[in-house]
Amino acid sequence: MKIAVLPGDGIGPEIVAQAVKVLHALNINLELQEAPIGGAGYEAAGDPLPAATLKLAQESDAVLLGAVGDWKYDTLPRDQRPERGLLRIRKELNLFANLRPALLYPELASASTLKPEVVAGLDIMIVRELTGDIYFGQPRGITTLENGEREGINTMRYSESEIRRIAHVAFSIAMKRNKKICSVDKANVLETTELWRQVMIEVAKEYPEVELSHMYVDNAAMQLIRAPKQFDVMVTGNIFGDILSDEASMLTGSIGMLPSASLDQHNKGMYEPSHGSAPDIAGKDIANPLATILSAAMMLRYTFNDEVNAVRVEDAVKKALADGYRTADIWTEGTRKVKCSEMGDAVVAAL
Ligand code: NAD
Repeated sequence: MKIAVLPGDGIGPEIVAQAVKVLHALNINLELQEAPIGGAGYEAAGDPLPAATLKLAQESDAVLLGAVGDWKYDTLPRDQRPERGLLRIRKELNLFANLRPALLYPELASASTLKPEVVAGLDIMIVRELTGDIYFGQPRGITTLENGEREGINTMRYSESEIRRIAHVAFSIAMKRNKKICSVDKANVLETTELWRQVMIEVAKEYPEVELSHMYVDNAAMQLIRAPKQFDVMVTGNIFGDILSDEASMLTGSIGMLPSASLDQHNKGMYEPSHGSAPDIAGKDIANPLATILSAAMMLRYTFNDEVNAVRVEDAVKKALADGYRTADIWTEGTRKVKCSEMGDAVVAAL
């Protein structure tokens, strides 16, 4: 099993080091190789996705990524900024399906800003399309009109086949869960998502056991706060999924708890925490590494088909929480505040 390890920027190196520690502790045959991406890629090779990093990722079975981005790169030309490296690697590896579970651990029910009875037992899987939509559509750019005024343009675009393949991923996941999908769109206003809805309905015919419902994105944003437990699998496009999955993450108390997987057609995947590089706390050894450790568990499950070790890692995380270990972002009175590296040690000890 060959894994490309791309720590990236900010807290990336700190949290990835903990996940690597946990993978080593499993005592399975893994070949890990590190390479720079994002700001680190720009510093090393003048490119947020250096050619050598892309080559390593292409030759590996899976990619474990920390996070990219730092405010100090905000003035660089857009194609040299760290985030562009991330968009490009997703596109180059054809990682079109982003899986983001939002799962509330009972020990953290009080860390959510919502009432415990609203979120207790929450277990949502958000399936977000990742390589299309307004983030990639052409034309795009900022132009100057004849009257001298500037105009910004982005294009929302989805082809039928792009919608169909993400629909199949979502329906397959629903089959393994509670057989319930909510497809989120804005079909009342946007033609792109009118097509989205039509294709979802067509694909649903191939999965008669799965119950498909539809919801407009504005309502979905509201319902996620009002009654989040009504959702099981949510499937949506790139931009809506970006926003809704961050919203869902806060239901669970901390964005530092949430893993993600981005898969291609053959289950090759890139695994990364749902949060960013948190430059405000970088280098202090206080970040929460659990999202990254849980991303490594998803890697074992989805790319390496190793359910046993995936569950071992997830159980070790639960045990560390049950034993009272908390990083600062999830700390509450009466629990034991630990550093990022100590949380990694606690998970290894639980293993
Ligand atoms: P962010 O997710 O980095 O941080 C938001 C807040 O959450 C911050 O207060 C941060 O301290 C906290 N936080 C995030 N992860 C944490 C963790 N593991 N433990 C404890 N606290 C944590 O989002 P942002 O501040 O909007 O963006 C910062 C940088 O990250 C920007 O350059 C942005 O472009 C980039 N970014 C990268 C990714 C990615 O690599 N996938 C995603 C989002 C943002």
